[in-house]
Amino acid sequence: MIPVAFEYQRATSVDDAIAKLAASGGGKFIAGGHSLVPLMKLRLSEPAQLIDIARIPGLSGIRASGGRIAIGATTTHYEIAASPLLRDQCPMMAEAATEIGDPQVRNRGTIGGSIAHADPAADFPAVVLALDADIVLKGPTGARTVKASAFFRGFYDVDLGAGELITAIQFAPVKSAGYAKLRQRASHYAVVGVAAALEVSGGVIRSARVGLTGATTHAVRLTSLEAALAGKRADAVAAACAGAANDVADVNADLHASADYRKAMIPVFARRAVERALAR
Ligand SMILES: Cc1cc2nc3c(=O)[nH]c(=O)nc-3n(C[C@H](O)[C@H](O)[C@H](O)COP(=O)(O)OP(=O)(O)OC[C@H]3O[C@@H](n4cnc5c(N)ncnc54)[C@H](O)[C@@H]3O)c2cc1C
Repeated sequence: MIPVAFEYQRATSVDDAIAKLAASGGGKFIAGGHSLVPLMKLRLSEPAQLIDIARIPGLSGIRASGGRIAIGATTTHYEIAASPLLRDQCPMMAEAATEIGDPQVRNRGTIGGSIAHADPAADFPAVVLALDADIVLKGPTGARTVKASAFFRGFYDVDLGAGELITAIQFAPVKSAGYAKLRQRASHYAVVGVAAALEVSGGVIRSARVGLTGATTHAVRLTSLEAALAGKRADAVAAACAGAANDVADVNADLHASADYRKAMIPVFARRAVERALAR
């Protein structure tokens, strides 16, 4: 399929991108293009202008400061997967990136694009929920920060105002964290994906944050599972995870998996994610 005709402009800074989009009358930012271009080819999205943000200096990169890590919005999945800093301090983030799509997707796709697009089966939304990350935004009226738990609101619906750009994702790194997914065979999107970040001391899980993707309209926290895991040792994880799907309503059904199958897989992949986190 061929998209409708559009104009293309490359932004030179964040402010330039915001100004160009505001002046575009129906334009869209493009980063890696790996979600937007397929939609344009299907004519499900018909932007009059594309504002390319992929080469804005300083908008990509992974930096540690003051006990937190900031990942610039245009950092590619490959850069996240290969980052020595993330592999050391927050291996779940690198692990999840490694499992996205194929090498072409990982080389072009960006974390900002993934979070903004919020495909119900995307991997990073679950990961940023488990890390309790901040999504940093800038738009025509200024900058603001939104908690990941408030950012994902519904089916392809996020707290991103008109003309706003994600500039970074910030979080306190968690070493005892793991991501496990049942992937679609062709695309590698998550049929069910679970990210677990644990605070562990003396062999006991003191607290847990768990993000789920693939199973519902948008990525969500599994708060009942988080409560069930608190105070547990490794030998009690399987029992705690058995009820992981209990409070998940309206489970997705599509050609990849029925709702019942997805529901059955949530405890399985929750347990794998928690055990992976504990092993770290
Ligand atoms: C074959 C294939 C397999 C895939 N497999 C997986 C997978 O296994 N797991 C997975 O998670 N994903 C998968 N993806 C999606 C991939 O990760 C995309 O790269 C990602 O979803 C979007 O990132 P992008 O940079 O390509 O965004 P783009 O396609 O450029 O943009 C997507 C949307 O986000 C907006 N946008 C982009 N950047 C910003 C920003 N900084 N601020 C505000 N809005 C922005 C754009 O305007 C657009 O609406 C797959 C894609 C393909 C084509």
